[in-house]
Amino acid sequence: MSAATKTAEAKKQQYSFNKLQKRIRRTVGQAIQDFNMIEDGDRIMVCLSGGKDSYTLLDVLRFLQRIAPVKFDIIAVNLDQKQPGFPEHILPEYLTREGVDFRIIEEDTYSIVREKIPAGKTTCSLCSRLRRGILYRVASELGATKIALGHHRDDMVETLMLNMFYGGKMKSMPPKLVSDNGKHVIIRPLAYTREKDIVKYSDHMDFPIIPCNLCGSQENLQRKVIKDMLKQWDRQFPGRIESMFSALQNIVPSHLADASLFDFKSIAADGMENANGDTAFDHSTPTDFLNYRDEEDDDDAAGSEQADSSGVIRVLNLN
Ligand code: SF4
Repeated sequence: MSAATKTAEAKKQQYSFNKLQKRIRRTVGQAIQDFNMIEDGDRIMVCLSGGKDSYTLLDVLRFLQRIAPVKFDIIAVNLDQKQPGFPEHILPEYLTREGVDFRIIEEDTYSIVREKIPAGKTTCSLCSRLRRGILYRVASELGATKIALGHHRDDMVETLMLNMFYGGKMKSMPPKLVSDNGKHVIIRPLAYTREKDIVKYSDHMDFPIIPCNLCGSQENLQRKVIKDMLKQWDRQFPGRIESMFSALQNIVPSHLADASLFDFKSIAADGMENANGDTAFDHSTPTDFLNYRDEEDDDDAAGSEQADSSGVIRVLNLN
């Protein structure tokens, strides 16, 4: 490859990365704004596992912290669960180099899980419960007002599918919620961000990833099935995941069947026309995937983030 071709290629890659970075910052800014995730004076505890999602979350929140007129603190927390082979030096070295305030919490949940769960059984549920309890305790000790987790848009769609397929519930992961002990607000600023963008971003940033299979537990099989199914749909029908995520934001209780959300018993014909009413006798209307445009095409018009004096980070120039 000639020097000129190399330079052109490097420029192209940088341009493409700039677009990606802008898109991720934009989606995070938008989620923060829509759900009022960050307010003036917040102390945000960012849970850092050493995976691509949490590194990306920390990186983008630090960017927003720099440009926001409101003040909020960030403290990164990693829970070292004493899994065999956990590379203890990686996160402290990275966080020190980046100048991030951090705490590493050492708790041997690995041994507890091994002791309590018979070999061959799934260990994730006890492990997660122990981890959650420890992180809540640490958040209180650190005076954190919010706990930020790195779940993204694809996690939310997967969880919706999991709950529908195996749990009989229309339920996903909310972008913001109160912890089950009632003491903390949990936020998911990557709620609008695509996993494939995070993968590319993490690769480009060369984050020192810690492998997630150190515990030796089998990957959650049901989640893997759903993940593979969604990936296949994404290839076959571009836009389907976007549409499913939009569905999470457009709930129509009168067109579902939960009598606790809509008073079906009191329904009576009132003689008024209703454009959004019954379509029971119509042909079903397929989602128009042909209208879907990959967000990568839209980057030139993509917005920029700014935070206003109320503490809300606003995203400008969005299409
Ligand atoms: S995969 Fe391993 S570390 Fe993760 S929740 Fe399951 S048991 Fe715990």
